[in-house]
Amino acid sequence: MHTPRNSDERPVMKRRTFLLGTASGLSVMVLAACGAPSPLPTPTVVPTTAPSVIPQPVAMQRTSWSVDPFARGSFSFPAVGATPEHRAALAVPVIDRVFFAGEATAATEPGTVQGARESGLRAADQVQSVAQSGERITVIGAGIAGLAAATQLRSAGYSVIVVEARDRVGGRIETVTKDWPMPIELGPSFIHNTTVNTLDDEFTALGVTTLPFSQVPEARTRTGEVVPVNPVGAEAVAAALVWAAGQPQDVSVERALVDSGENQLSASLNAEGLSEADWLEYEISTRLKMDSGSTPSEESGWYTPSPDTADDDYVVVGGYGTLLKADADALDVTMSSVVTFIAYTDSGVSLRLGAGEALSADRVIVTVPLGVLKDGAVEFSPALPFAHKGAIAALGVGVLDKIWLRFDEPFWDTSAPLWTVVGTDSDFPVWVNMLPITGEPVLMGMVAAENAVRLAEVSDEEFLASALHSLEPFRTAE
Ligand SMILES: Cc1cc2nc3c(=O)[nH]c(=O)nc-3n(C[C@H](O)[C@H](O)[C@H](O)COP(=O)(O)OP(=O)(O)OC[C@H]3O[C@@H](n4cnc5c(N)ncnc54)[C@H](O)[C@@H]3O)c2cc1C
Repeated sequence: MHTPRNSDERPVMKRRTFLLGTASGLSVMVLAACGAPSPLPTPTVVPTTAPSVIPQPVAMQRTSWSVDPFARGSFSFPAVGATPEHRAALAVPVIDRVFFAGEATAATEPGTVQGARESGLRAADQVQSVAQSGERITVIGAGIAGLAAATQLRSAGYSVIVVEARDRVGGRIETVTKDWPMPIELGPSFIHNTTVNTLDDEFTALGVTTLPFSQVPEARTRTGEVVPVNPVGAEAVAAALVWAAGQPQDVSVERALVDSGENQLSASLNAEGLSEADWLEYEISTRLKMDSGSTPSEESGWYTPSPDTADDDYVVVGGYGTLLKADADALDVTMSSVVTFIAYTDSGVSLRLGAGEALSADRVIVTVPLGVLKDGAVEFSPALPFAHKGAIAALGVGVLDKIWLRFDEPFWDTSAPLWTVVGTDSDFPVWVNMLPITGEPVLMGMVAAENAVRLAEVSDEEFLASALHSLEPFRTAE
């Protein structure tokens, strides 16, 4: 069944595209790493700037993490064929001179702020176990992993320099305050798995407001009808993952859905114009793709978390970046310095920066994102060991982008904080309504995986047009 996205002249894209492969450059990259190109046809969507019935916002801020040269994606994800051992392999020091940290190397909670920070502390422990007191340690990257590592080593008496490519600290944590009535987050907004991490307590101690954020969404059809979420899609994914767990080799989530038969849901429409198959597509677009930034054809059937393992989240409304301030202020951070080359021997490390300067140290902690390592933007001499190169190739990098919109006044009347759409091919299938959270008529939309990769290339006008079309189901009926 083919369903138009909207009733206007916008291009029509087939639903249930997850069974047909993907269109993203990122997908090609990940699949190439796995050696498993999709043999299936690729859908294309032509962006449009056709006007929407949604009023124009008075302010907009977008992200494009996949084309950011110092991120090259949003966070790592378990690509098919990648295992936790790959993360562990990347975290192994190279001749006790080159150490790796960053969310992709985290043993627990990779892809998160908490995981990134713990990886930095782990790398600092590794350095301390071999380094003499007073040694010079260079940390590459002033994200949370790098700042955590540098802070611990500085406290332990080492001479620490942090080298950062950007003109700011924080990396993928980026809080914007200028021109907005409250801080907005271009990277993380949430504290995940609050039962196992302490970030919420830390924000509280810093005086930063965080609020419990319910994962129970309001779901709307293309025509704006509010419908109860039918669990049939989440159940199909959960059953497919159980099936995948019993296979002798890892398979993609897409393959698990198809080969287990769990994708065989009814396409018959009910009174709301929705089928069971729509709810499977809903689970994929609003959860799987949002969590990993990738498509089911790229995600590991063995290591993708089951839908029923979701934990409570907190949303940070007082500025995620506050977490970094104390560490960053106390450290020697050299900004706007891009490391391009790392040479290492038994006796030390020398670094080359983009502008041609050289820097030497006893040891280095590399915290640049996995996407940057995959790109080969930092050259190592001698080349990294096989296990490190294998891990860099195997792990996936997903893409999640955001759009923040501020309106003069709300065009919606729902007080639900989390909005989702079902039965449409919305680029932005998930929205956070900040009105009940902050009192401001501000919305945060999210676009993931191949849609995010495609939209990263378009103008602000096209990006906004796509977001506004996605919001049409939430407009108050006249
Ligand atoms: C849109 C989005 C939403 C997210 N949502 C959440 C969320 O809600 N909750 C959550 O817990 N996590 C979330 N994350 C993930 C989280 O932001 C990251 O896991 C974490 O911030 C990564 O920290 P890091 O220190 O490993 O890497 P980074 O923060 O990327 O730090 C690496 C640093 O290295 C620098 N660098 C890169 N290349 C070079 C070079 N050649 N030379 C010198 N420096 C270099 C970069 O500029 C950067 O500052 C989100 C991420 C994104 C993008």
